[in-house]
Amino acid sequence: MDLGLQDKVALVAAASAGLGFAAARQLALEGAKVAICGRSRERLQAAVQKLQDETSTERITGFVIDVRDRHQVSQFVEKTVSHFGQLDIVITNAGGPPSGTFDSTDIESWQQAFHLTLMSVVHLVRAALPHLRQSDAASVLTITSISAKQPIQGLLLSNVMRPAVIGLTKTLSQELAGDNIRVNSILPGWTRTERVTELLTYRAQQNNTSLEEEMAKITAGIPLKRMAEPEEFGRVAAFLVSPAASFITGTMLQVDGGSYAGLL
Ligand code: NAD
Repeated sequence: MDLGLQDKVALVAAASAGLGFAAARQLALEGAKVAICGRSRERLQAAVQKLQDETSTERITGFVIDVRDRHQVSQFVEKTVSHFGQLDIVITNAGGPPSGTFDSTDIESWQQAFHLTLMSVVHLVRAALPHLRQSDAASVLTITSISAKQPIQGLLLSNVMRPAVIGLTKTLSQELAGDNIRVNSILPGWTRTERVTELLTYRAQQNNTSLEEEMAKITAGIPLKRMAEPEEFGRVAAFLVSPAASFITGTMLQVDGGSYAGLL
């Protein structure tokens, strides 16, 4: 199936590694022009290089941007448009908020998580909208987490902030449908990225166990008995933002190997 992504312009936030990188990579492989961002110049350049090596130099660019800073986010959008001449697809993403329980989480961490997880999406969509309104294949995808449907132990801030992003995603899908802008979310389950290694290291410290033991506990609870590979997420992301998914909007899609146990 042709996803219809050839020469579409996509911006993927926080994409020098992990899920963002996997989405950017799949879009580039499908023929899209892709702009990514990350905070560290070194990691960003390495990611851009990797994507360029696999696809082509002219189709990939990257900018050093912190998605918490709305001025930087606005520059990311404007630089992408001046580089590629248009903007069709936006994928929002950011690092995950830190682990912790209610007792261990201070007010400063609450505020930081609000800016990192929710407001970064608000800034990006606000900056991108004027350009998306000019596209005939406009699409926004928010990367959230299954924690939005089913709280994850020890991830209080994710459990609280992700549902807010889902609320935003659904509302945007309704408000922007008249402009023919589709808005969806992917709720990833456990996927083997650097972030996951970090989380499991935290759990191992808390539980006095090893990383391998924590990994085994998790995969035992996933019906498919393994974590996802980032590429499995990337393929779904590329489909959802593509013209091939032209009648899908307002959908919150789990990519979780069956982990979420609810009916809907
Ligand atoms: P990761 O840590 O592997 O990658 C995150 C990327 O975001 C990195 O490139 C990092 O440099 C960049 N980044 C972080 N903070 C940034 C900022 N303020 N500005 C710009 N760039 C920034 O993480 P991941 O596993 O790819 O997860 C991505 C998101 O998806 C996170 O919010 C995570 O909580 C969520 N998530 C991940 C999983 C999983 O199993 N991997 C599951 C559910 C949800």
